Amino acid sequence: QSQDRIFNFAAGPATLPESVLKKAESELYIWRDSGMSVMEMSHRGKDFVSIIEKAESDLRLLLNISSDYHVLFLQGGATTQFAAIPLNLCKPNDSVDFVVTGSWGDKAFKEATKYCKPNVIWSGKSEKYTKIPSFEALEQDPNAKYLHICGNETIHGVEFKNYPVPLNKDGILIADMSSHFCSKPVDVSKFGLIYAGAQKNVGPSGVTIVIIRKDLVGNAQEITPVMLDYKIHADNKSLYNTPPCYGIYMCGLVFEDLLNQGGLEQMSVEKSVRSLMNVPFTLEKSELEAEFIKEASKEKMVQLKGHRSVGGMRASIYNAMPLAGVEKLVAFMKDFQSRHG
Ligand code: PLP
Repeated sequence: QSQDRIFNFAAGPATLPESVLKKAESELYIWRDSGMSVMEMSHRGKDFVSIIEKAESDLRLLLNISSDYHVLFLQGGATTQFAAIPLNLCKPNDSVDFVVTGSWGDKAFKEATKYCKPNVIWSGKSEKYTKIPSFEALEQDPNAKYLHICGNETIHGVEFKNYPVPLNKDGILIADMSSHFCSKPVDVSKFGLIYAGAQKNVGPSGVTIVIIRKDLVGNAQEITPVMLDYKIHADNKSLYNTPPCYGIYMCGLVFEDLLNQGGLEQMSVEKSVRSLMNVPFTLEKSELEAEFIKEASKEKMVQLKGHRSVGGMRASIYNAMPLAGVEKLVAFMKDFQSRHG
């Protein structure tokens, strides 16, 4: 990477591939033969339609998404999906199951209580969110509308390496994949719905991706705002209102870049249950943490402070973090250790 770029370990918005940023820079003022920037285009014009269609088809290729699923490019972040999902899939008295392995799953659960009757069937809270449950031990409700998990807990660094089989009557598993989306291959056919904010692995903030099985669309509660109704977005190919055009364009560049690198098989290697995306760590002498962060920043490694709710440090190493960044951090950690014993 170029010398004047620093290694940014932030959990999101996060570092983007330099090649993608350079491509965007080269097209910033004039996109192909359109005579204008993507930021200035009509979202209904043929140029932008070609951009969003290519972004969708590249994402379908990357994740091998079948035509049984809609791919939607929405707004409002993953947080909005915490409400949209129960509004679209449940009636107010329907029960749903939540496995809560960290703060994000907990937030999704709390939001769902407004629109349906969610139950936490397993929580890692008493063990400070350091575990994934054994799937056999889960007491799933056969009448639940769906089973919700957070695939990778960004704050606690706990990642599902495989997924529970949903035992509810419609067999629907839903996953918040915000912080490991497109970091490795996923069998989409095992899910009813996958959602992710773009701003970690696949683009800038402002775009939220929802991949939903087509038969789950069209039964939203009557109070559902139009902007949260999946059917409206699906029927209008994510162009019901003005979408986050530039963000979608950037996501498209990232998808293209991932395909050029050989697809998601190339992105990660599964080793243990530790998250490969968000790596929280602490120092034996916790009083040295501020010094660690200060020295790292002098070495051009920033955003290593842990989430305010858990403290310590956290390195987020999404796809676009170069190996050199991780190597530099590891070398720095060893050096820091040897200097401070
Ligand atoms: N879910 C997970 C796993 C996250 O990491 C985040 C944000 O960091 C969110 C949800 C909230 O996403 P957003 O800020 O896009 O609403």
